Amino acid sequence: MQTLDDLLNEGVAGRRVLVRSDLNVPLDSSRSSEESPAPPRVADDGRIRASLPTIRALADAGARVVVMAHLGRPQGEIDPKYSLAPVAERMGELLGWPVPLAEAGEDGIAGASAMEKVSQMQDSDILLLENVRFEAAETSKDDDERGALADRLVALVSDGPPGVPGSGAYVDDAFGAVHRKHTSVYDIAERLPHYAGKLVLDEIEVLRRLAGGSSDGAAPPEKPYVVVLGGSKVSDKLAVIKALLPKIDRLLIGGGMCFTFLKAQNFEVGDSLLEADMVETCSQLLEEAGDKIVLPSDIVAARELDESAETSVVPAESIPNGLKGLDIGPRTVETFADRLDGARTVFWNGPMGVFELAPFAEGTRGVAEAIAALPGALSVVGGGDSAAAVRKLGIDEQRFGHISTGGGASLEYLEGKTLPGVAALEA
Ligand code: ADP
Ligand code: MG
Repeated sequence: MQTLDDLLNEGVAGRRVLVRSDLNVPLDSSRSSEESPAPPRVADDGRIRASLPTIRALADAGARVVVMAHLGRPQGEIDPKYSLAPVAERMGELLGWPVPLAEAGEDGIAGASAMEKVSQMQDSDILLLENVRFEAAETSKDDDERGALADRLVALVSDGPPGVPGSGAYVDDAFGAVHRKHTSVYDIAERLPHYAGKLVLDEIEVLRRLAGGSSDGAAPPEKPYVVVLGGSKVSDKLAVIKALLPKIDRLLIGGGMCFTFLKAQNFEVGDSLLEADMVETCSQLLEEAGDKIVLPSDIVAARELDESAETSVVPAESIPNGLKGLDIGPRTVETFADRLDGARTVFWNGPMGVFELAPFAEGTRGVAEAIAALPGALSVVGGGDSAAAVRKLGIDEQRFGHISTGGGASLEYLEGKTLPGVAALEA
C-alpha cells in the first residue's frame, strides 16, 4: 500500500491532490429558530481535528488540496441542511487560514463552479467540495453510475497547472468510510495514483494489532486482552463478538445491548431495550463462552429517558416493569474496573449507558476512566458515540492509546471482512 509519505517523497508542490476525509460531524442547530435562522455550528469537531494532519502535510508541501467528504444522509440530492459550510468554517478556524467551500451547482458537487474554484487555487491552498452524498451516484450499487461520478471528480484534479508533472493524486484519509463501496473511497482509487492518509494508516496499524494472530503475520495482541462492548444494539456487534471471543480473555458487556444478554439468563429486564430475536443467539454465546463474558450486576433505571428523570439503582436480575435500564450501576463499574485491571490490550466500543444525559453518564465515565488509567496498555476506543462520549465527559483523549474515528469500519475490520476502500488502496 502506498502511503502519504510516499506521495510526499515523490513531491507534490503544485500538484492537485484529492483527499477523502471523514468530516461527518454532529451539527448543533439549536441556535436556529424560525424568527432568526442561524447557520448550524459544529457540535463536536473531533473528526475535523483528526483529519488535519494529512491535509496540513500536503498543504505544507505545496500541494493544492481538494478535500471531499460526506455529512449525514442527504438522500442523493442537494440539501442545505447537510451542507459542509459549517465544517469548512470550523476547519478554517482550526488551521488559522480560510478553507473555502466549492458550492454545489445544478451540475452537482464536481461541476463547473467547483472546476472554476479549483482552477483558481494556488500552491498550498485548501478547498472543500460540497457533501459528496449530494450525488446519488456516490452510494449507488451500479458500477457505471459510481464510475461516472468518479470521472467527474478525477477531472477536477487530473489537469494540473501547466508545467507541473504528474498532477492528480488521491489520498484516502476517511477510515470511517472504507467499509463502503462508494465512489469517493473506491472508484476514485481505481482512477488515480492512490495513497493511504495518516489516519487510515494509523487505524489499520492499530486494528491489525487488535485483530492479531491473523494470516498477515501481525504479532498477537498482548494478554490479558479485554474487550468492553456497549451501545444500543447486539445485532450490530454480534459478528465482532464472534470474531474476537476466541482471541480475548474477557468480554465486559454494558449499554443497551446488555439487556438482551440478561434476558438470555431469564432475568427480568423491565422496559429496557431488548432485541427479542437475539435472545437465543445470546444464550448460545453465554453457553459457549460464559466464563469470559461479564454482565452487569446492577443497573441505573428510570421511568423515562429524561434529563430530570428520577433514577434508581436496581439489581440486574430483576428490573421492575415500567422501568428502563439506562446505565450500568456503581457496583458494575467497580467490577468492570476490577476486570480491566492489569489488561495489556483493551478494545472498547459502545457507551455503557445513555451518556448523552447526565443521570446516565456515570457508567460510561467510570469505565472510560478505568481504561484510561491502565498503565502501558494498548487501549483503543472505537465507535463514533464512544469517542464523542470521551470528549463530552472531558476525559483527556491522550490517555487512550488510540481513538478510532470509524465505528462501523473498525468493527468490520475486526470481524475479518475485506474493506472495499482498503482493498482499493492495496491494489
Ligand atoms: P458507537 O457509536 O460508539 O459504536 P453505538 O452507536 O453502538 O456506539 O451506541 C451508542 C448509543 O447507545 C448512544 O446513543 C447511547 O445513548 C445508546 N445507549 C447506551 N446505553 C443504552 C441503554 N441502556 N438504553 C438505550 N440506549 C443506550
Ligand atoms: Mg454510533
